Amino acid sequence: MAAEIRLFPCLSDNFGYLIHDDATKATASIDAPEAAPVEAALTASGWKLTDILVTHHHGDHTGGIAQLKEAHQCRVVAPRNEAQRIPLVDETVGEGDTVKVGALAGRVIETPGHTAGHISYFFPAEKLAFVGDTLFSIGCGRVIEGTPEMMWQSLLKLRGLPDDTQFFCGHEYTDANIRFAKTIEPDNKVLAARADEVKRLLAAGKATIPAAIGAEKAENPFLRADLPEVAQSVGLAGSPAWKVFAEIRERKNRF
Ligand SMILES: [Zn+2]
Repeated sequence: MAAEIRLFPCLSDNFGYLIHDDATKATASIDAPEAAPVEAALTASGWKLTDILVTHHHGDHTGGIAQLKEAHQCRVVAPRNEAQRIPLVDETVGEGDTVKVGALAGRVIETPGHTAGHISYFFPAEKLAFVGDTLFSIGCGRVIEGTPEMMWQSLLKLRGLPDDTQFFCGHEYTDANIRFAKTIEPDNKVLAARADEVKRLLAAGKATIPAAIGAEKAENPFLRADLPEVAQSVGLAGSPAWKVFAEIRERKNRF
């Protein structure tokens, strides 16, 4: 594989990511929660920052942009529909646009709901997706600026990626997400197995990310809102999927 990834913690529970193209030596930071851990990862790998690909405007995803741009003169790529809320943007992108990191080509998928203009970056050749705060492992982002229906449509787009796509999200929330997911699907055996795996990873000091889209479809209640048994379990048998999704999201907000 031509792409190399570095994953590292930022702030209290954010992830920082670098994606590096071996052929051209280009390196992008996916979001920039804070500058220091990104700089440390660059130093450790010997890579030079060429790009920052922003998923959404929240401060815990953009706080490091100014310092990194000043140090590296890198290009800042941001979602068209909220670029005015992100500092020092060079290029704005929307649905279907291609963003190059050296020779690596990422496709922009608009995934609004958490914020109004949130985007994800999917690298089809490498089967890698950076999904910000839209999809988490066994969870999803809070619906802050959009509607539940909008968020459900965004999740369907990500669910439609190839099963062997590895996705990288903005936060390490998997353990808490699993505790909640068990209240929706207490008998889901695949979820129980994932819970054991996550316990092992965290005990070993490892990240639970990335996760595969295919596995996630069997485990994540937010991606399963259109299954009759999930609708049934929240008392909404026969309701449209987005309403089931909205109910699960509402329960998670109160969990
Ligand atoms: Zn956010």
